[in-house]
Formats: sequence, C-alpha cells, structure tokens
Amino acid sequence: MSKENNRYYTDVLIIGTGIAGCSVALTLANKGFSVTLITSGDDIDTGNSPLAQGGIVYRGPNDSPKLLQQDILTAGWKYNYQKSVKYLSNKGPDIVKDILINELNVPFERDEDSNFKLTKEGAHSVNRILYCGDYTGRAIIDSFKRKIKEHPNIKILTKHTAIDLITSHHHSLKLEFKYHLINQCIGAYIYNQQEDRVETVMADYTVLATGGVGQVYLHTTNAPSSIGSGLVMAYRSGAKVMNCEFIQFHPTALYQRGGQKFLISEALRGEGARFVRIDGTPFMKEYDPRGDLAPRDIVSRAIVEEMLRTGDDFVYLDAADFVKKDIPKRFPNIYKKCLEAGYDITKEPIPVVPAAHFFCGGILVDLEGRTTLNRLYAVGEVSCTGVHGANRLASTSLLEGLVWGHSAGLSISKRLQKKNRLSKKLMGSIPDWSSPGTDKNEDPALVAQDWLTIKHTMWNYVGIVRTTSRLKRAREDLHNLSKRLYEFYRNTPISKNLIDLFHGCQCAIIITDSANRNTKSVGCHFRVNR
Ligand SMILES: Cc1cc2nc3c(=O)[nH]c(=O)nc-3n(C[C@H](O)[C@H](O)[C@H](O)COP(=O)(O)OP(=O)(O)OC[C@H]3O[C@@H](n4cnc5c(N)ncnc54)[C@H](O)[C@@H]3O)c2cc1C
Repeated sequence: MSKENNRYYTDVLIIGTGIAGCSVALTLANKGFSVTLITSGDDIDTGNSPLAQGGIVYRGPNDSPKLLQQDILTAGWKYNYQKSVKYLSNKGPDIVKDILINELNVPFERDEDSNFKLTKEGAHSVNRILYCGDYTGRAIIDSFKRKIKEHPNIKILTKHTAIDLITSHHHSLKLEFKYHLINQCIGAYIYNQQEDRVETVMADYTVLATGGVGQVYLHTTNAPSSIGSGLVMAYRSGAKVMNCEFIQFHPTALYQRGGQKFLISEALRGEGARFVRIDGTPFMKEYDPRGDLAPRDIVSRAIVEEMLRTGDDFVYLDAADFVKKDIPKRFPNIYKKCLEAGYDITKEPIPVVPAAHFFCGGILVDLEGRTTLNRLYAVGEVSCTGVHGANRLASTSLLEGLVWGHSAGLSISKRLQKKNRLSKKLMGSIPDWSSPGTDKNEDPALVAQDWLTIKHTMWNYVGIVRTTSRLKRAREDLHNLSKRLYEFYRNTPISKNLIDLFHGCQCAIIITDSANRNTKSVGCHFRVNR
C-alpha cells in the first residue's frame, strides 16, 4: 500500500474480514499480490463468521455432489441459480480440504481413528458437516487470523469504515470519464475512526465482503456490523442487487432482552431436541411431516403461529428430555450461555424465539464473484451467487464465503497478471472526500431513536409474515426517515454512528422495496396480499 497525503493506493482493497474477505486476501497474498484488508471492527474477528456454531458442509461417506445439490435446491425452493449450486457442490469440499484442513489446520472434531466426525442439520439428507464443538466459526476465523496477521502481503486496517465506493462516473472530476460507457469502481472512501478523518483508498480491484443485514431487525442473531453497508454502497454505485426480500429467520434464538440474540444451533435439533408447548407436548409434526428438522422458514412460521395462538412471547425447546449425547461436551458454548442466562439445558426446556439470521440475497455476482460494476467484486453474505435461492440450507454459507472468496482471489490475480491496471489519469481525477456537515456533533438520542424506528418497522412490517398494507406502511415510514437522515447528514460531521445509521436505513429500504415488489410467497419470503 503506498501513501500520499490522505490518499492510498493498493492492488486490491478488501472491505470485511469475515471468512469471505479472509479467503480472498489469503488467495491473493499467496499469489504475491499486495492486499489491504479493512474492517470497521477493532480486530479481524468481528462480523458473523466467528459466531457460526453448527459447522461447514464437507462430504459424508454416503454423499455426492449431486445429493448436496438436491438438498440445496429443495431448501431454496428451486429458486436457486443451478450453475452456482453445482459449482459449490463440486468445488466446495476440495477447497475446504485445501484451505481449512491442509493450509490452516482448523481443529475440526475427529474420532479415535482420526477420521472427521460429521454431523447433520435440518434438511440435509446425510451427515456431511464438519464442526468444532459449537464454535466452528470462531475456530475457522482464529486460524485465518494467525495466518493473515503474519502474511507479508496483507495489510490489515482495523477501525476503518467504508463510507462510499469511488466510481469513475460518480466521482471523477474529468468530464471524459463520465462519458465512458463503462462505469468503473476505483476504490472507496474510508473513515479512519482513530484519526477521525476520511481517506481516499484507490485500488485496481475492490472487494465487498461486508456480511449480512440482520441488525436492521429488532431480533437478530447477527453481529453489530451486519447492517448491509456493502449492499447499500454497491446499490448506490449502480451495481445490480437481487433477491433482497429473502431474509432467513432462524427459529431458535434464546429468548432474552436486548438486540443481538444468542443462537441455539440447529445441530441441537439434529441431535434430537424438540419444540414443545408449555405442557411438554411436541408440536412441529402438526405443521410439517419433517417435524423439528423441517426447513427454517417453515419452523419459524410455525413458532409465530404457536406464539399468536397462546399469546406467549416464546416457545420451548427441549434438549433435556430428547438429546441422548453429553450436552455440555457436545455443545459447550450453548450450555454455558444458557447457564449464564439462568437455564440448565440438561435439566429443563429453554425459551426460544425466531430472529433475523441470514441474508439470502445481495449484490449479484457470477462464479468469479464479479458484480455488474467493473472492477468491483462481492463475496460472502453480502453477495447473491444464487446458491441459496429463496432459502438457505444450513451450514452452506461459510462454505459459500470460502469458495467464492477463493474464486474471486483467483479471478483478480489473473486480471492483475494481465496488467489490467487503473490509469494514473483516472486516479488523479478523483477528489478527496469533503464532509458536507460541519454544524455540530450528532445527538446520541436521535441516533438511538432512529435505529429503534428502523428495527421495529422491519420486525413488525417486513418480518416473518409480510402483508401488502404492512409493507406499504414500512415504505412510507422508512422513506420519511431517510429524508430526515439526509438533513442530519448534511449538517453533522461524519462519524461511524452516522455512517452506520445511514447505511442501515438505506438497507432497510432496499429490503422493503424488494419485498413489496414480490407479491408471491416463496421460501423465506412469506407474503399475504391484504
Ligand atoms: C449466530 C450465527 C450462527 C451461524 N452459524 C452458521 C453455521 O453454523 N454454518 C454456516 O455455514 N453459517 C452460519 N452462519 C452464517 C455465517 O456465519 C455467515 O453467513 C458468514 O460468516 C458471513 O461471512 P462474511 O465473510 O460474508 O461476513 P462477516 O463474517 O459478517 O464479516 C463482515 C465483515 O465486514 C466488516 N464490515 C461491515 N461493514 C463494513 C464497513 N462499512 N466498512 C468496513 N468493514 C465493514 C465487518 O466488521 C466484518 O469484518 C451463522 C450466522 C450467525 C449470525
């Protein structure tokens, strides 16, 4: 990375340090290219990746790429892009082996003969999931972190928040670039939280790996960074976004007060746990013949229906009476977190609610992770590869981030080898950021209230069951808020809070507009036309 005043240049700028961003960075750095990896968090391990519990899809003994494809397509309501599903199913297990097992030595569980232990989750037809206790994501990210921090070709910038992508059409001060038919992404304006200034980072290729959107909902399992900022930046720059109505709600988050809910992994149901009513009777078979292991959208709606019927704020999940394994050993993290919340999962059922969990849509990309905007890539949860269609099969998202991260890295390296670089003239025509607002610092009460408006609006109107009138109300309320935020933004100096709020509101609008356009129920988009 070279620096001139407030301006930087790097071969590749990667925004986001989850499994997807790390996978791109390692692939490129191993090929000898210098990459800059940024995160708005204070270390690499922010985001959803370290929160993943259940595991990552590999290949079981009675498994085949075809069987995996079928399971993904069934979960995705055949709304998937078949080419991407095939690509993931064919390539995925080998990439897991090369990167996670051989290069990073992730300590996946093994039996006495050193063979991998493989588990099963909802809607998988065979045992094919590698795991590390119930902290698989943490184990993967810790292994990436060790490798990436010592790599000479990777520069990591923490507490750096991307505000906006820089494009030739939108930002160049030279008229000739505005007349070019092809708009190009040239990097991003990045807010350096420690120095409280905006830096201009130019890159031959920019990769968005900013993760999901769960934090625009009241109840979510997602990390605080999951506010859809990559989605919003790409959308604003003219890249195509797709399937944004498909938000998967996880049926089992521990019922507690507060924003981010602790996830109770589906693997617990894979090992036998069952949903029960307050009197202890299981109920899922009344909703779906697959019972407690039915796909997540069906289970989430069943729970909402049960909650509406009983007037309770939650249902119970009973592992104590149904799981035969040693729970504290198999699920140490869940066991500990439940104890901290006052429940001994080995002795009693625990209260659970559904929560916004996974974003199946995103920035449209091809098999290499290329977006429709030249020189811009997107990988991981922020992207839409078409793998998940209208709903996601459990444990395929870490795999998708790893595989597409690797493919994007290979694709970019090929282009860099062809010396396909940005012109000096174009880079020279890009101005530095000028902050519109200078008046006074933000009022925390306004920021907190605006976030509550976004989260409640999304939960109540654009949540598990969406009616036409709820969506109309959501659109009106969010567009009004957005207008107010533009004012706020024009008058207030830039800050991380302000950037996040702005991105969160725009993200909520993108989801709501998509949900409004799609008048049919499919997968995790459940639409009632009244
Ligand atoms: C509780 C939980 C359990 C899960 N369990 C599983 C599982 O068992 N198996 C599975 O396959 N999937 C699971 N998932 C889903 C999976 O974890 C995610 O889909 C995946 O980790 C996303 O990876 P990512 O790299 O795309 O994004 P993330 O890991 O979310 O990383 C996003 C990164 O972008 C950064 N960022 C965001 N915005 C900005 C910005 N404006 N500027 C700079 N940086 C920014 C963040 O700080 C972070 O570094 C789970 C998810 C959750 C929440």
